[in-house]
Amino acid sequence: MPVDQSLQVTAIPAFEDNYLWLIHDHEYAAVVDPGDAAAIEAALATHQLKLAAILLTHHHADHAGGVPALLRHWNVPVYGPANERIPGIDHPLREGDVVTLTSPSLQLKVLDVPGHTAGHIAYVAQGEPWLFCGDTLFAGGCGRLFEGSADQMTQSLEKIAALPNNTKVYCAHEYTVSNLRFAVAVEPENQQTAARLAAAQELRARGIATVPSTLGEEKSTNPFLRYREKSISDLLKSSGRLNNENPIAAFAALREWKNGFR
Ligand SMILES: [Zn+2]
Repeated sequence: MPVDQSLQVTAIPAFEDNYLWLIHDHEYAAVVDPGDAAAIEAALATHQLKLAAILLTHHHADHAGGVPALLRHWNVPVYGPANERIPGIDHPLREGDVVTLTSPSLQLKVLDVPGHTAGHIAYVAQGEPWLFCGDTLFAGGCGRLFEGSADQMTQSLEKIAALPNNTKVYCAHEYTVSNLRFAVAVEPENQQTAARLAAAQELRARGIATVPSTLGEEKSTNPFLRYREKSISDLLKSSGRLNNENPIAAFAALREWKNGFR
């Protein structure tokens, strides 16, 4: 029987609401953001895979914390942001770099996407419509601004939004329902957002992951890609959250609002 060498992406749930991503060819696997080494080891064993590479998007422990334990067991390259100090990285990356993996056979282009953290990077697969964006863009939302500004985050999200609409967004958390509840408050007239929230709630009720989404869905429903819409800035102004026409200020006001939204 011929060996199936097609590439697959598999979600590994970890902690409360993280997804660690395994990219594999049914023999070798690269892992994106292995915050939990035990969860990775269990998935490798279940699928009978050998670890071949580690890819990191940013320094937070729920993304990079499993690296030391994995390196004790696997002698593999560790790719990650050049602008963050993460123990174990031997292939520091910045915008424009290309990661070439042989097994699994895949090239990934690097984008600098600061905002959530100062040196956050994202990986854009070449030849497959896949984006691994860590805590930058989420399904229906975006990461909190821990180390960067609204200006940086909007530029990072704009780089991502320039990718094709069929790009699958492999983000790192299951925040979709809470994000879309906020999105409905921001755009009560957006029927696509309301329908997407209902669909996400149904998936979660059955314990199914709502990610990856597509970039096309995000562009039509995610307020953090839609902050330039007039209806959004009008609502921000009429509710006293914004007092000017600056789109970056509108984005910052949305992020503020979301931080306190329940
Ligand atoms: Zn993070």
